Amino acid sequence: MLVLDLCVPPDEVDRARALGALWNTERQLWQVPAGSDPMPFAAWLVAGLECNIRAPGYFVATTPFCCWRCRGITHVHGFALPAGYEALNTDDESGEDYWEEADDSPTFVYHIDCLSLEPMERMRSVTDTYRLCYDRGLDAYHWLNVCHYCGLQLNDTAVFSELGYGFMPLTPEQAKHITLCYVDAPFTASAGGWWLGSQLFDSMTFALPHRSISKV
Ligand SMILES: [Zn+2]
Repeated sequence: MLVLDLCVPPDEVDRARALGALWNTERQLWQVPAGSDPMPFAAWLVAGLECNIRAPGYFVATTPFCCWRCRGITHVHGFALPAGYEALNTDDESGEDYWEEADDSPTFVYHIDCLSLEPMERMRSVTDTYRLCYDRGLDAYHWLNVCHYCGLQLNDTAVFSELGYGFMPLTPEQAKHITLCYVDAPFTASAGGWWLGSQLFDSMTFALPHRSISKV
């Protein structure tokens, strides 16, 4: 099982140690022990996991979702970016990375393995069921939705990219069940997927600013 590397500022070392972080003498850094819940340590994750997507503002998205194990109607959460977000590209010829404005349409972001602090804290104020999890199948840590009722990890493919489910609506009627709350703060993440564009974005429900949302 993977051990997670942390980047703990000197004045937060006591707190990290109290939460169970272990000091790796050889590598001179703090780590989450294998098998521990990574969530309490999420703010100290080393972003050696290089960020590859960013935007000056973002949406916190939520929609009802039927858990395939317990059949409970839970809520799933995610991040969406307005048109004009940027993705990191690598120039094959020069080998240099550069930021490029992506397609001119909004997108959902998924397969996130590293989140910047602001969106992470924002999401934590909304829900504790979108969380950093250990994914056994991939032997990796990802931000995933878990069922509110039975705790099942709901994989991102099902939540974000299966037509007619979750954040991939087929009809305007389905799109209405997706609520988007805009947050006027920068978003940065290391992500494996962003679903490009949907004319149905405009059919989703745009909620009042995020602070008015109660915990789901
Ligand atoms: Zn369930």
